[in-house]
Formats: sequence, structure tokens, C-alpha cells
Amino acid sequence: MNKNIELANLIFPDVKLTIADLEDKYPSRELKEGAKVTRFAPSPTGFLHTGSLFTSLVAYKISKDTGGIFYIRLEDTDTKREIEGSGIKLIDQLKAFNIIPNEGFLGDKEIGNYGPYKQSLRKEIYDTVIKEMIINDLAYPCFASEDDLTKLREEQTKNKEIPGYYGKYAIYRNLDIEKAIEYIKEGRPYVIRFKSKGNHLNKIKVHDEIRGDLELTENDQDIVIMKSDGLPTYHFAHVVDDHFMHTNLITRGEEWLSSLPIHVELFNALHFKLPKYAHLPVIMKLDNGNRRKLSKRKDKEASVDYFLSEGYEPSSILVYLMTIANSNYEDYLVTSKNYDLDSFKFNLKKMSLDGALFDEVKLSYYGKEILSKMTKEEIASKSYKWAKTYSSELKEFIEKDYNRYERILNIEREKKNPRKDYAKYSDIYEIIKFFDHDEYIKLLDNLDFKFKEKITNEIIINFLNLYKESNMIDYESENDWFNNVKEIAKKVEFCTDNKLFKANPDAYIGNINDACEILRVTLVTRNVTPNLFEIMKILGKEEVINRINLYIEHINK
Ligand code: GLU
Repeated sequence: MNKNIELANLIFPDVKLTIADLEDKYPSRELKEGAKVTRFAPSPTGFLHTGSLFTSLVAYKISKDTGGIFYIRLEDTDTKREIEGSGIKLIDQLKAFNIIPNEGFLGDKEIGNYGPYKQSLRKEIYDTVIKEMIINDLAYPCFASEDDLTKLREEQTKNKEIPGYYGKYAIYRNLDIEKAIEYIKEGRPYVIRFKSKGNHLNKIKVHDEIRGDLELTENDQDIVIMKSDGLPTYHFAHVVDDHFMHTNLITRGEEWLSSLPIHVELFNALHFKLPKYAHLPVIMKLDNGNRRKLSKRKDKEASVDYFLSEGYEPSSILVYLMTIANSNYEDYLVTSKNYDLDSFKFNLKKMSLDGALFDEVKLSYYGKEILSKMTKEEIASKSYKWAKTYSSELKEFIEKDYNRYERILNIEREKKNPRKDYAKYSDIYEIIKFFDHDEYIKLLDNLDFKFKEKITNEIIINFLNLYKESNMIDYESENDWFNNVKEIAKKVEFCTDNKLFKANPDAYIGNINDACEILRVTLVTRNVTPNLFEIMKILGKEEVINRINLYIEHINK
């Protein structure tokens, strides 16, 4: 028997399939012209990273725009780094962003004809390919110990040569097959390496969908394709999985660009069709004026959980990420004001290359835009759902009177230019808690508001008493109510005409805005508030009188 076959049978006695069988089992997909098959391939090593949300959004969006397939593959072959349960959590987090795959690993189940979609369940597939590679002299067992590899490294450093396992440093590459068989029978530990035919003095041409045509150094490393635990390495699993799952566009982080020559060589050696690649920029952050990668350890915003717990509406994060993904998306938003991502056609060619910079101020802007466009019912129910998990104080507030909560959120909402007070659900409580009587008392206790000098306590009290004695909020229209406020303001020598006031400010105690400020501070404990008339309508007459009395008591203290 051919020695290679003997070796392959010794290593994989149970493997009966061939690559041709796998090709039959996983036939080409029937796709319409231009449809892209993309995937998100997370490793279950922790929370969903903001960068991963970014890459999955891009993959998802491209498949959707082209009428293709987006699937999820769980890359769980690094058992040492695996965090129990994180695979399922990743899927749940994606779901929160409405990134729903057409097929693949879905946590508790999987769907699709190209599975299993969890790498640890694909061992038979990897073994089949490797077995055939050994038979065809494309792979070999390597028995190098840690010590051997350290010695190689030292020698390479001494000789000022490129580190790695290649050429003359690939010490088991030409081991006599008889010997390899003997070592395996003895039970010596080994890995399987790819037998590279490359030379690092050569260049290869590859195309990246974002970066265009590239010239990269050819691979000559005999990389490990199967580790001693029998599981594949990323390089090998990527090639095998994306081939048999028929991914035709690989979108992944640019950290993989440097290993692209390895993947190209593997695809070619196996006679698999090379998919298209798009290496996406890494999300960066400004730190003391320097750009650096968002770091899992240092930056809270590196974790998608942070945004969810802060109560950013998931769609606002996606919109924001899309602005960093596609330079023309922002222009599109300015003109269309349409935040529905589906209506925008994503273009890989418009991807910025110099690293996407994360900017929470901009995220806040989109947060406000999106929350302001919701109906009162929508923002009330979504924020309530958020509060149930993340904010007991907001939850309690809402549960006291849901209808009141909706009315509060509706203040200046149904307008052409609605108010933009909230960037995220966690902003809501602080802004609206004054509606609650007990919270108002606490705020009042700590209040030390200074009005303009001329606005003495006496004037404030006179004004408030006159207001109390008037019809107060018993007006249908805001205009009539405001006219009443003006009348009262005049009585305490405020000017109700801004022009007159500007011409001769000394003749008055203040202008109408100053008078309104008294009402704002009295009722809300702040001088910047949304529409005062609407606030008073929600508080109700009794509570407004109550607050006026409490406020007068407070300043008399
Ligand atoms: N499991 C790899 C990672 O998490 C996937 C890279 C890829 O998309 O190919 O980085």
C-alpha cells in the first residue's frame, strides 16, 4: 500500500468519506445573480464586542441587499478560551439588534442544509479533508515539541531570519513516512501541518473588495491545520467551512488580512474556489489625542452589553455603526431623514479605510433622533421593557401611572420638530422624575436657585399668588393660558414685549421669559423644561397649587 495512505488510515481509521462525498453532500447553493452568501463567525470567548456587531451588521446588510444568505457559524475550536454559554448569549444579543440570520447556529437549535454550524461538531468534515491531504502529500504529522520550537526560534533570531516553521526549519516536513508511522504507534503527540509550496520571496496578487488589488508576500509557512487535541485551527477551518457552506463573500476584521496568503494557498491546494474577501476596518477610539483600538479590557463601549444596559435603542447603534461603515450613509440620512436601514443600499467600496473612529457624541445624536421619531406608545413600551431589566426607579415610576408616563413622553412629540431630550432610555428618569410628588420634595429641599437680582422673593411670591388666584391652567389653548400669564406678569412689572424690554430693560423687573422662569423653577425645580403648559396639565391643578405653596414656603425658610 502507498505509504501515505497507510499513514492517513493510521491517523484517521474511522474516516470513510472523501472530499468528493462532501461536495455531494453540500452542493452549490441556488442563488440569484449577484446574491451574496455572508456569515458571522464568532468565537464563544465572551461578550459581543462592538467590533463584532459592526462586522455582523455589514455581513447581514450585504446579504439582505443582494437577496443572499446570512448565516452564523460558531467557531468554538479554542476550548481553552471558551466561556460557557457565551455562544447562546451572542445570538441573543444579535437578536436584540434584529440581526436575524437565515441559517446557522441559533443557540438552542440550528437551521440550514450546510451544517453542523458549530465547528466542534464538524470534526468528521475536517478529518475527511485532512486525510485526503495526507494521502496527496499536502499535509503531514509534526512531532516537534515546545522545546524544539523554542530552539528553532532562537536559531532564527540568531541568524536574523523570519520566524516560523518553514523551509529548512520545518524539521518534520521530510520525515520518512515509516518513521512517522512508528512515532504515531508509539503514541508520541503530534499536530498536522500543511505542506506549503510557497516562497516568501514571491508576491501574490489578491483582491480585497474594500482595499482593491493587493500584492502580498506568498505564504511559505507549514501552518498547523490540526492541533494535538484533534481540532482544526482557524486558518484551516475557515477554508473548509467557507468552502462547504458556499460563502462567496468573507467579511471579517482587518486583523486577518495578514494571514490571507495562507488562506489563498490552502484554497488553491485543495482546488476550492477562492471566495471574495472584504477586510473591515477595526473600530478605534481617541485616547488622549491618540487613536487606538477599542479594547475589551479598557473600554466599556467595547461591549455591546454596555449600550443595551444604558438603554440605547438598538436601531440607533446600528444607524450609528452604519455611518462609520459607509461614508455616504450620513449624507443619505441628512437628506432622507429615513432611519430605516433597509432603505439604504450598502456599498463596500464606500468603506473608510483608515479605521473607524468611535464617537459617543455622535451616537447620542442618532439616539436622540431615533427616540424622538417614535410614537408615545412606542417609546413608552420600549423604555418600560428596558426599565424592567435595568432601572427599578424608572420601572416604579412607570407602574404608578402608565397613562401619565405616556403623556409625559408625549410632551412636544407630535410636532414637525419633536423635542430631542433623550438619547437613551437611561436619560428619561432624571429628566422626568420631578413629576413625582415625593421626588419633587427632594429636589426642592436641595434647590438653591438664584434669580436675577431685581427678582426678589417678594416679587416671586406676589407673582405666584396672582397666578394661583387666576384661572391657572383652566384653558383649552396654550395661547389663552399664556395671555393670562402675561397679564399677571404685567401686574408685577414684567415687560411682555421683548422689543420694548430690549429698548429699556431698566424700566422693568424683567421680561416675560423671566416670569416664566419663576413658574418653571417653582414647578419643576429647573429653569430649562419642556413645554410648561403641557407639564402643568399633566401635574393637574391641585398639584400645581400644592407646589406653589411648597415653593413659597421653601423661599421663606
Ligand atoms: N472566529 C473568528 C473571530 O472571531 C472569525 C473570523 C472570521 O470571520 O473569519 O475572529
